[in-house]
Amino acid sequence: MIILILNSGSSSVKYQLWDTENGGMKAKGLVSRIGIDGPMLEHYVGGKKYKFTPNEIIDHKKGIELALNALVDSEYGVLENIDSIEAVGHRVVHGGEAFAKSALIDDEVIKAIRECIPLAPLHNPPNLIGIEACKEILKNIPQVAVFDTAFHQTMEPYAYIYAIPYEMYEKYRIRRYGFHGTSHYYVANRAAEMLGQPIEKLKIITAHLGNGASIAAVDGGKSVDTSMGFTPLEGLVMGTRCGDIDPAVVLFIIKQTELSPQETDNLLNKKSGLRGISGVSSDFRDILEAAASGNERAKLARDVYVYRIGKYIGAYIAAMGGADAVVFTAGAGENSPILRKMVLEKLNFFGLEIDDEKNEAAVGVEADISSESAKIKTLVIPTNEELVIAQETERIVGKIL
Ligand code: AMP
Repeated sequence: MIILILNSGSSSVKYQLWDTENGGMKAKGLVSRIGIDGPMLEHYVGGKKYKFTPNEIIDHKKGIELALNALVDSEYGVLENIDSIEAVGHRVVHGGEAFAKSALIDDEVIKAIRECIPLAPLHNPPNLIGIEACKEILKNIPQVAVFDTAFHQTMEPYAYIYAIPYEMYEKYRIRRYGFHGTSHYYVANRAAEMLGQPIEKLKIITAHLGNGASIAAVDGGKSVDTSMGFTPLEGLVMGTRCGDIDPAVVLFIIKQTELSPQETDNLLNKKSGLRGISGVSSDFRDILEAAASGNERAKLARDVYVYRIGKYIGAYIAAMGGADAVVFTAGAGENSPILRKMVLEKLNFFGLEIDDEKNEAAVGVEADISSESAKIKTLVIPTNEELVIAQETERIVGKIL
């Protein structure tokens, strides 16, 4: 099936063109700075990059049209014409409690995604704009929504309810939702394949350590707990997000600094995390470099980041009553042997032991880096959220064709 995969952000659209029967991803690209100065289209095909800088890209519809033009171009395109596209798969950030699975998009689904806007005010609106733009451009081509939250809908109430008055849940749906679900789902299932065992029999901890970072406990293939919560701010320390914090700190900051709620939100989401502690960068590579050259705050940022990940792994071993494997994925998880070594050092007593050589060699590739005597396996698995979106789209659209 020929599938267009879209990830629409506030001023950008990431796209991939997949042919699920012939080798997977054929081309990909990014339309950025939509509606603002200096818009750009970066298109990648056959290992080559093509860059275009039109005067303006007024809206997402125009941006998606430009991407489609690139995909059918005689020089750098991969399609004869737009009609070859059989389905569109959208990454949608928040499906609330309405979606425990991916969904074929119709008016009801659009309404339900719209109802989740208060839960994800920055993400769901551009996701919807991408869906509406495709409806206009691609007319009756079926579209599927794949939700970041869906995989975590299997959590039990005791794992997702916050201990605040229950009316807050009933009235405003305040609870843990969790994010990065597509990634946690992919790497957990891939881990089971690598271990040669049915996922139903495995307890797996998946650590998605990118710019945004979250960790999940996956018991028998189901997410039973995850570190991100009502929003993607909770849990691990991230590039610019604070992760777990005493909620009273937020009120204290507002009172003491006279920052507005909006400015405080910005402080916690954009100015905290690795960037906030180090004052150096939000990028983990920069932090490692600065720490190695003696920058004390970069060292502290690194140590807080590493400590928090280890603490969660320990917590999730307890939450599941054991674990068979820990999986590292996303930018830092896939590519940083030193991070994995630092995280696991304190967890040896659980039977988490890695082979240094295997760890050093595992950069951006799938690998089992456990030592011979390890009781819990450690795996490195590059994530592939687009593959899951393509598979989900094909599965759902296949049913109606
Ligand atoms: P992502 O959001 O998945 O693209 O991940 C981005 C994060 O991964 C950034 O903090 C990068 O610094 C980090 N990262 C990528 N490659 C490496 C590496 N080789 N060593 C350490 N961190 C890395």
